[in-house]
Amino acid sequence: MEDNPNAVGSDSLNLDADGWLPSARRLPSPNSDARPPGTLIDLLVIHNISLPPGEFAGDWIDDLFLNRLDPGAHPYFVAIAPVRVSAHFLIRRDGRLTQYVSCEQRAWHAGVSVFMGRERCNDYSIGIELEGTDCIPFTSAQYCALADCTRQIRARYPAIVPERIVGHSDIAPGRKTDPGPAFDWGRYLKGVVS
Ligand SMILES: [Zn+2]
Repeated sequence: MEDNPNAVGSDSLNLDADGWLPSARRLPSPNSDARPPGTLIDLLVIHNISLPPGEFAGDWIDDLFLNRLDPGAHPYFVAIAPVRVSAHFLIRRDGRLTQYVSCEQRAWHAGVSVFMGRERCNDYSIGIELEGTDCIPFTSAQYCALADCTRQIRARYPAIVPERIVGHSDIAPGRKTDPGPAFDWGRYLKGVVS
């Protein structure tokens, strides 16, 4: 038996023992698997996504993460419908939170990535998607939900110090641009550490 470096403390009231947040809508994604044994979860990655790009309606993101995206529903979907991806969480424009993958499991959000010389960030990170684009301001409801979600994650995984909360663009530079210049890091982190 490996020691679990992410063992649940007695004061862990929020994320349940299996790594699910009771307050989130739960839609388990098959695009997930086990982390390498003994992995300390010590990185949080912030993303944005919208489907089709720039549109904030419908349940297309759920469909993508659940491998049921209809390629006939929009020309953009043809190329991405076969892609197998997920994130632990999605925060919609109105602040609604959905969880697709247990935090104890590995979600497939980062792709080819490196943080401080360490590759395969999916192994040791948690990924949160914000519904949005790089250049459209995110909503107050999203900042509130993101701060709340982050606080609950950090209560369980204290190795995720503020310096280890990054954007997808930080770990996949040149390949990814999200969460983008419209994301207000100062506003977000102030809500996390206060
Ligand atoms: Zn991303």
